[in-house]
Amino acid sequence: MSPFETCFKSSAVMLLLDFKSGAIVKANEAAIKFYGYTYDELCGMNISDITVYNSCVNLLNFNLKEVSSQHRIKDSSIRDIKIYNSIIQYDYKEINWAIIQDVSKEIRLKNKLKIFFRIVDDSDAMISISDMDRKITFLNKKMRKTYSIAEKANLSNFEIQDFYNNKGKIVSKLNITETKKRDFWKGENEMQNFDGTKIHVIQSGIVIKDITGSPEFTCITSIDISEKIEGELNSIKSEELYKSLFDTMNGFAYCKIIYENFKASDLEFIKVNKAFELQIGYKNIVGKRLSEIAPTFLEKEINLFSRCAYVANSGVSEIFETYAESVGLWLSISIQSLAKDHFILSFEVINDRKEKEKLIEGLLYRYHSLLEIASDGIHVLDKKGKIIEANESFCKMLGYSKNEIQLLNISDWDINWPKEELLKRISETISLKSIFQTKHIRKDGTVIDVEINAIGIHLDNKDYLYASARDITLRKENEKKIIESNFLLKKLNADLESFAFIASHDLKAPLNNVNGFLKLLNNKKENLSEDNKEVYLKYIQKSIDQMNILTTELLQYSRMGNNKDEFSKVNINEVMNSLKLTLAEPIQYNNAYICYTELPTIFANKTLIHELFMNLLNNALKYHDNKKQLEIEVGYTEQVNTHQFYIRDNGLGIASENLEKIFIMFKRLHTQSEYMGTGIGLALCKRIVESHEGKIWVESELGKGSTFYFTIRKLGHWGNHTTLQN
Ligand code: ADP
Repeated sequence: MSPFETCFKSSAVMLLLDFKSGAIVKANEAAIKFYGYTYDELCGMNISDITVYNSCVNLLNFNLKEVSSQHRIKDSSIRDIKIYNSIIQYDYKEINWAIIQDVSKEIRLKNKLKIFFRIVDDSDAMISISDMDRKITFLNKKMRKTYSIAEKANLSNFEIQDFYNNKGKIVSKLNITETKKRDFWKGENEMQNFDGTKIHVIQSGIVIKDITGSPEFTCITSIDISEKIEGELNSIKSEELYKSLFDTMNGFAYCKIIYENFKASDLEFIKVNKAFELQIGYKNIVGKRLSEIAPTFLEKEINLFSRCAYVANSGVSEIFETYAESVGLWLSISIQSLAKDHFILSFEVINDRKEKEKLIEGLLYRYHSLLEIASDGIHVLDKKGKIIEANESFCKMLGYSKNEIQLLNISDWDINWPKEELLKRISETISLKSIFQTKHIRKDGTVIDVEINAIGIHLDNKDYLYASARDITLRKENEKKIIESNFLLKKLNADLESFAFIASHDLKAPLNNVNGFLKLLNNKKENLSEDNKEVYLKYIQKSIDQMNILTTELLQYSRMGNNKDEFSKVNINEVMNSLKLTLAEPIQYNNAYICYTELPTIFANKTLIHELFMNLLNNALKYHDNKKQLEIEVGYTEQVNTHQFYIRDNGLGIASENLEKIFIMFKRLHTQSEYMGTGIGLALCKRIVESHEGKIWVESELGKGSTFYFTIRKLGHWGNHTTLQN
């Protein structure tokens, strides 16, 4: 047998192929076994019939020495193969001698290894492989990431110690160096990062051996358990904290109610803290009953005990403060129950606080008593003028109830200044104590004069104004009366002269008339006809009427000063509406046209204002020009400090030299026969306007009409002293 034939008989799979066509020329036993075909079948086939990739045929043509490929065997399964080619002379022909090696198993193993490495690489654990010289040969992704090592870094620069701190500082259960002789070990260890930070890991090591059984590599797997360890440490710490808190916090006892004949009669201490023992002054009380420790306490503080029993039974917590007489202490007690008949009692001795509270209570009581008995109106305002506190006197002074006054602001009662001005004054007074006078309006609309004594107080980072208000209306009135009486004394002579004048002239004239006609009637010598008698009697009647009017108006004038009506809000539209009704008869008689629009509401004496408008309208109606349609216009212009009104007519008008005279008492520009009158009306108007701190004047042109102007001082602009002007 030739060496070739000997080889051909070996167990290796061999085929002889036609060099050019790839036809199988000869197959050995091993090939028949491998491909599953009979010798004849196989020899009738071409290599391309069993090759999965046609390219392999081409590769054969190129006479490649070694080719990896895949062959399909008879049962259709595919095998990974390697073909080793050589060209030989066979039967005088050039023939391709192909030796086929089945490498399917190797490839599968390689694939498995690939998958295995991927798992290892992607693992959440840190995995390293080092050789027996302790040089690192492999680090998985996690490990490279933890140590910031690039994927393609040269691992031979590292020794295994660079990563693992083999001292096992914290809870290392196994010493890694010691177990090196073993094939496998497990334990806890510390790993140190290059920046010095340490992590705690669970570690397992495995020694990988070669075929001969000698150790080749060491593979170490580490799982970071730092967080878990930290958590454990924290819980250990918080437990310690809790224990220290438990012992240092207030008295705390976990107790159980003891029943005797179904009646709560005692309690047993199940757990107590040090503070509790310290506070009650007994040691080692756990497991003991209260009756054993302090029998009298149970008897004397039966109320406290029943409250504990109630909570233990009902589960309804209670927190309260009580005075324990048996020990002479004020206690703040909390009782809670988590399980039936059990309760947690904690208490704090609050004697100090109670004493302070009592002191403050006493102070507050005295402060409030003082506040309430004070006759002055004491009130506290915040910076915005809102009432914080007001005593009884202040409420009474303004006529509000305590509840009502709580809702008010200083601008609701102080009418001396507008709101912005008031707030400005508050800020000023807060920094500087001051005493001043002002005017307050009461709930019922009446106005009082007030003297304020105020001081600023800084409390809880806020500014307050403490003010004491004294009603000085009476004092003011008295002052006014003194001024008035001085004035009156001076005026008396003048008035007396006027009265003497009217008595001698205005009153005497009708009296003389009466006298004269009576004489004529009584003259028996003259034979008076009935007609004459009637005429004389008519004159007498007329004179008496005139005297009547005169005395009535004089009385009205003299009474004006005594008008006790208080100031209030007066709607001038309403005044005009009512006057149009009162004067309906002369308005109609004179065919007068009266116009007015949107008149204001003012703060004034209603009766006097009514009288004022009445007199001026009366005059406009009386002194009208018969040749014209009478038109009367009532109007208003707002001034800074005053309300200014006018009443304009298109009547007779007044000569310029008389414009001021007409306001003097009894001054008339017309005779009784022309126009009936007394000459008191405008003098009265002047007095009324002056009592409202205003002025009255007239603008007129004879034959064209007159405009009477007057002003009334606005609310909040009244002077501190009402001056009398003549
Ligand atoms: P009386 O009307 O009773 O005479 P008054 O004091 O009201 O008294 O008026 C004084 C005088 O002023 C009147 O007599 C009249 O001459 C004149 N007077 C008043 N009002 C007007 C008016 N509207 N137009 C013209 N004259 C007037």
